[in-house]
Parts: sequence; C-alpha cells; structure tokens
Amino acid sequence: MCLHAIISAQILVLHRTAIGGFTTPELQPHSIPLDQIAAAVSGGQLAVLSALRQLASEEEVPVYLVGGAVRDYVLGIPTRDLDFVVVGNATIVATELANNLSGTVTVHQRFGTATVEIDGDRVDIVTARKEAYASPGSLPKVSFSDLNDDLARRDFSINAMALPLSGESPNVIDPHGGLHDLANGSIAILHSDSFTDDPTRMLRAVRYEQRLGFQIFETTMAELKKSINEGRVPAVSGDRWRQEFQKIFDEDRGSEMFSRAIEIGTLPAIHPALSNDAGLAPLIGETGLSPCDYLAALVRDLSPDDGDAVSQRLNLPIDWARMVRDTIALKEITPTIFETASKISAICRLLDGLDPESIAASARFSQDAQLATKLRRYLDEWRLVRTALTGDDLMGMGLTPGVKIGEVLQELHSAKLDGLISSETEERAMVNQIISRGS
Ligand code: ATP
Repeated sequence: MCLHAIISAQILVLHRTAIGGFTTPELQPHSIPLDQIAAAVSGGQLAVLSALRQLASEEEVPVYLVGGAVRDYVLGIPTRDLDFVVVGNATIVATELANNLSGTVTVHQRFGTATVEIDGDRVDIVTARKEAYASPGSLPKVSFSDLNDDLARRDFSINAMALPLSGESPNVIDPHGGLHDLANGSIAILHSDSFTDDPTRMLRAVRYEQRLGFQIFETTMAELKKSINEGRVPAVSGDRWRQEFQKIFDEDRGSEMFSRAIEIGTLPAIHPALSNDAGLAPLIGETGLSPCDYLAALVRDLSPDDGDAVSQRLNLPIDWARMVRDTIALKEITPTIFETASKISAICRLLDGLDPESIAASARFSQDAQLATKLRRYLDEWRLVRTALTGDDLMGMGLTPGVKIGEVLQELHSAKLDGLISSETEERAMVNQIISRGS
C-alpha cells in the first residue's frame, strides 16, 4: 500500500473543498506514542526531548513538538530536526535545560527563541507567537501568544500540527487539516493572503511538493499565481530569496524544485532571466549536487549582463557571483575551445583564471562529451603541468631579469602542454634556441 493510502486508512474522514475549507469534520483523533518519537532520535535531541517531556508531564509546562517532526513521523520518514514551541517563555525553559544537560544555549530575547546545543546536536525552542504583516513581503511584527496563533502563522497545513509532550500517547493538534493533506498528498496554505504576506512560501511550496512527492493544492496554486500576477514577488529582498535557494541547494531533488518553480512562474518573477529550465534538465535525478552545480545550471545560457543582474538580485556572495560569471564566460568561449582543439596550450590559456568549480560543474553536466572530456582533462592534468626550469634558472642561463623571463617561461609551458618538449634537458635546449634567435 502506498504511503498516502496507509495514512488515509489510519486517520481520516474529512474532505477539503474546492475553496480550501473542510466538509464534515469527522477527524479521528490521531495519537502518537511519544516513546516512538524518542526511539527515532538520539544524542542531544533525545536528551532535550526527554527533559521537555518531564517538564510537560511533571510541571505542566505547555510544550509541544511542532512542524516537520510531526509531519515526518506521520509520513513514516526519518525526522530531520526537532522544533519545540513553549506557550510561555521558551528562553527561560531553554536556558534551564542547557544548564541541566551541560549544553550551551543561544537566546534571541526579542523573538523569544533559543537554540540549545548538546553533544553537537542543535534543537530550536521558541515561544508561541503571533505574526502580523504590516505590508506585503515585509518581515512580520511578532507578539507572544498561544499555540493556536503559533500554528496559524505557519506556511502549510502539513507544517501546522503540534504534539503535546505530556502523557504517553497524546493526540496531534491539527487545526488546519494537516493530517488530511498528508493523507491526500496536498500542499495547502492556511489562508488566502499567505503568499501575499510572505512570497518566499512560493519556493517553500515547491520544495515540500517535490521532496514529498505531493501536489500543490489547486486553490493554493491559484493563490500562488494570483500573488505572482499582482507583483508580490519583487517586494521580497534578495537575501530572503537566496536563503530559500540555499534550502533547495540542500535538497536531493533541487533540480526538480527549481524546474517546477520556473514552470509555475516564481523564478521568472524573482528575475526574468530565470525563466529557462533547459540547463536543469541534465541534473534531474542527480543527488548530492553542490550550490555551484545548481547555479551553473540556472545561469548557463544567460548573457553576462543577465548573469550579473541575477547575482545582484539574489545578493549572491562574492564566490557565488564569480561562479555565475565564470559559468557564463565558459559557455561563451566554448566555440573557441573547439576551434583551438589541437592546441592544449591555447585551451589552457582560455580556461586559466576561471573558477575550477564552475569548470567542474560544466564538465559534469555538459551534453557534449568532447567538451566535457577537455574540461576534465584541464582540471585533472593540464592545469597541473609545470616547467622544470624557474625564472632563476633562466637568469642563470644568461637571460636578463624583466618581462622577457615571463614570456620565455610561458613559451616553455605551452611547448610542454602541447607535447613538444618534456624533459628539463629539452627545456634547456629550447631556452638556448630562444636566446640564440635573439627575440
Ligand atoms: P522541515 O520542515 O523539514 O524542518 P525546513 O528546513 O523547511 O524543513 P524550516 O525552514 O526550519 O524547516 O521551518 C520549520 C517550520 O517553521 C516549518 O515547518 C514551518 O511551520 C515554519 N516556517 C518556516 N518558514 C516559514 C515561513 N516562511 N512561513 C511560515 N512558516 C514558516
């Protein structure tokens, strides 16, 4: 039986209507044994979970497991992180916990959030909060509140469930139909202004859709497209979009996610040059890709000006902006690489100075086997070739210090790359020839 069918059979009798609400809410309570959550984690995560369970049961502190961990437990897939919400003051809870467990804590008083680190494991504990968006795309105003408000501020129903940490087998708190959407494989927003409030959710939607093999629910998709058409995307800063890109870079199906975001219109709305998914095609199905692989695929066919504009829009760090520039430069010099096919030294002069990671990415996913071979040989062999003689050796052979030394070294290097000379003796003979020809 498929995953969705198993969940459907377990939990539900509830139907999402076309407008996103629910009919006949006869949801069966869905309980999760906390011992099973505990069995799925270890180290610092287990220590924090156990301490919080004790706090919830013995001192009746309202603490909940929220978000991805609840979602993934219901789906039967490994838990990535544990995120907890405290109704009250999470920073006090987290600080006490870190002290008791000999861990460290990083607190953001203003946001009421804390990260506890124990044995290298990090766990986020946040104060339940309400968020209000003063203007579309801006960062929200945050005020401390209750669990309902905290779940209502979240992106999708499947991420808006909570599990109380008291008792042995508590029921999932699911005010937005997350269990139903898990059963149906739907990504659904909680209210119609969701994408207008925070357009970064457009990329989050494709990320969960492609990661879980789900579908963005039809009314959610309609709202997403409406927000794009209303011009909401440009209001969001490059830094915030780049952070969502980075989350996709860390996923196994990042190429599928970017392709889908292009198809839906989100990437073109971030920057019009990001509207062609041809470069992503060779990456589909590949896992373990690097940020450079993704960047190269996204910008490969752009003009240098468009590449720079994309780097600026996403406020890319210097090294990533360089990858973008060099990927495009490499694409532009590809015809010349073929024209100079027989001269390895000429190919090296074209490639020297370009970012090796960009060359590696182009080699990995080039559709052209000949070009890929040349790029790989450049990286593995040709760029490592050195002459035996140094500038000092040349001066010892009678050349006067100055520009000429560099020119002769370059000539030797090219001759070595092109296989005209190989040993030091041959290098010396060539230098003597150059000296005697006097040019
Ligand atoms: P996972 O959900 O698997 O932990 P993730 O890395 O995307 O993946 P985070 O980005 O850490 O998770 O988000 C954790 C939770 O915070 C989400 O499950 C969601 O409930 C909430 N969240 C994060 N970003 C947003 C957002 N932009 N809008 C609303 N809720 C958000």
